[in-house]
Amino acid sequence: MVHAVEKAVADTPDGQVTAVGLRVGVMSGAIPEALEGAWPIAIAGTRLAGATLSVEVIAAQIWCSSCEATQEVDEFYALTCPACGVGCGNLIHGREFEVAYAEVSTPDDP
Ligand SMILES: [Zn+2]
Repeated sequence: MVHAVEKAVADTPDGQVTAVGLRVGVMSGAIPEALEGAWPIAIAGTRLAGATLSVEVIAAQIWCSSCEATQEVDEFYALTCPACGVGCGNLIHGREFEVAYAEVSTPDDP
């Protein structure tokens, strides 16, 4: 997680990372509360030390070819269309685990 953020801010090597946003799908296996809990430990001693973390949770969505629509699915009924009940493997959202943004303050900022 920290490594991904460090990669995202690699083009501003002098800056201090002040805030990080993550996009985490409900089916990514990552637990937002656990990420937030582990954050201060994970960033200690890195460029990210002191940065705040905000986690955006992405709901699971499938493309249902029967409804011809995007349907939001409950993670417990994953991959079954909630509207028509047809099983469907076209998960289009929900497995995200990505850096949404990373704010960097550079020494020459006002
Ligand atoms: Zn459907």
